[in-house]
Formats: sequence, C-alpha cells, structure tokens
Amino acid sequence: MRHLALVGMLAGFIAFQAYWFQRVTPTETRLAAAAASIAGREVEVRCPSIWRRLVEVSGFKGTVQVGADGNPRYAQLAHDVCATFAELPKRGFPGDVGCLTSNPPTCNDWTMDVGVAVHVLSHEAWHLRGVVDEVMTECYAWQTDGQIARLFGAPVGTADQIAYFFAARGNQAALPQYRPPAGCNPGGRLDLHPDTVGWPS
Ligand SMILES: [Zn+2]
Repeated sequence: MRHLALVGMLAGFIAFQAYWFQRVTPTETRLAAAAASIAGREVEVRCPSIWRRLVEVSGFKGTVQVGADGNPRYAQLAHDVCATFAELPKRGFPGDVGCLTSNPPTCNDWTMDVGVAVHVLSHEAWHLRGVVDEVMTECYAWQTDGQIARLFGAPVGTADQIAYFFAARGNQAALPQYRPPAGCNPGGRLDLHPDTVGWPS
C-alpha cells in the first residue's frame, strides 16, 4: 500500500511539472499577441521556466528556434526581458524617455530595461516572420519598436523616442557587420513606410 501511495505521489508530481512547463503565462500571451502583429500570423513566445533559469548561461536576450523544415517555430526570450514585460502592467511605461537622447543615455535602470525589452521583442518578431539576416532584421525592428512600445502602453511620443534611439545607435555601430544594410533609410528598399518622411517609424 505504501508503495502505491508513493507511486501515486510521484505521478502527481510529474503531472504537475508537465503542466507547469507547458502552461502559458499571461505575460507570454501578451508577448505572443504583440509579436503576431509583426509576424503576420499566430506565433509563440516563451519565457524561461524557473528550471530553465537555473541552467541559463547564454548571454542572448532572445533567440528564435527553427524547425527541421527551416521555418521559425517559436521565440525564446531571456529571463530579464520577460521580467520587464511582466512588471510593465504594475509599474507602467516610463513616462519620460528624454534621457535616451543624451549620449551616453542617462536613464534609470527601469527606463533602459523597458527600452531594451521592447527592441528585443520587435527584433525576434521579425525573425518569427521569417527574416533571417541579422542586420536586415535590425533595420525592420527599429521601424516597429514604436508599434511594440505602443502595444505595451507607451504614448506615441515616447514610442517614437525609443525607436529613434535604437536606430541612431545602430547607425553608430563601430563594426561594419552591425551597421545598417543598404536601403535601410527613409524611402530606401527596407523602409516599411516609404510614403512617409518619418524615420524609423
Ligand atoms: Zn537576431
């Protein structure tokens, strides 16, 4: 009898673990909806479970897993990026991001964390859409940073400032492989809105 109880407990524990691993959190649901607005289809965005966090060694803020067929399967974000998005409903979007315009930026940690998190999600969403090339992905990501920021509650002006910050930072990249590709400019081949003069929005 004792054995049976133990087996039962173990089965329950394993079932709970399986449920816990597969459960989609409210933050992941919000992230997936925002990424879908760029990917143009339903997508999955995952945050690390507590177990995964214990073994997380990669310095990447986000990656996209590609299936055997070569198509993007889902995006995996780093814990700190997910934690920022999870805190956003409570803490609210930073009201003033004017600190981003000074070089180097003089923002507090929360403002920087939110800016980076927005840009990481925007970038991975383009990979989910099927863009593979890194600098091309970056060029598109700058142009949708504002859209992502607005989806998470940023006023239009704030969203534009975040987008502008990342685009300007990309233009200043020291290494050629990180500089924007040809056509990544207003009216250029990679301009998502060639009809408007605004850049990067
Ligand atoms: Zn990338």
